[in-house]
Amino acid sequence: MALGEKSLAENLTDMGGLFPNKEAQKALAAFAEPFLSIAHRSKLNWQLGIVNEAGINACAAPGGKMFYNPELIAVCDHPAELASVIAHEIGHIDYDHHGKQLQLAQMVDQALKSHGKALDPELIKAGYGGSPSLALMRGWGLDNEFEADANIHTHFAKLGLDHAKASLFFHKLLKIEPPDRETSLFSTHPGSRERIRRLDESANFYAPARSEFTPPGWQTLKSIFPTPPQFRNG
Ligand SMILES: [Zn+2]
Repeated sequence: MALGEKSLAENLTDMGGLFPNKEAQKALAAFAEPFLSIAHRSKLNWQLGIVNEAGINACAAPGGKMFYNPELIAVCDHPAELASVIAHEIGHIDYDHHGKQLQLAQMVDQALKSHGKALDPELIKAGYGGSPSLALMRGWGLDNEFEADANIHTHFAKLGLDHAKASLFFHKLLKIEPPDRETSLFSTHPGSRERIRRLDESANFYAPARSEFTPPGWQTLKSIFPTPPQFRNG
């Protein structure tokens, strides 16, 4: 049984169901379409939706499913901010991070089993920095985040978005997320600052976009999820 191999309905139930506004769902699908059209795994059954879940978060599930929270769309004041999150989540699926994470988890599991006796919890703590799953998130998981972030620039270059705005959303999140909070999209452990640094550094290698591309559906999304004044870019 593959990790996270749930039906769309099961994923949705976990997250409070779909946000009950068809116009909003259609607008997000329209916004994401240009990004999905350049995804590598074109044979996947890509599906995305706005879910009824609180918090500024988005996530990708195996098989091409992506979920976006209303609050996340609301805090995006510029289309490049939402575009960066979508390109990031597509990156996780395009590079099959779920499959790789599962392989690694199975390797850890095998290693623990072949050890033949119960592992000393203190040893796990010392070796893995708390727990095996935490170690995956902190170390190896961070590499996946870097790789998914690199997809932001790849997609921005192909579609004509401003590379200088690739990290705009993450800069904003760093300011508004309390320091102890970690989400599947972003966490405030030191890796997050490094992610922003890499995004900003990479932006310098691209020519500025002549005219900036605004994905379809943006105006509709903003009329349904207006950006609160404290999250406007000014
Ligand atoms: Zn991620």
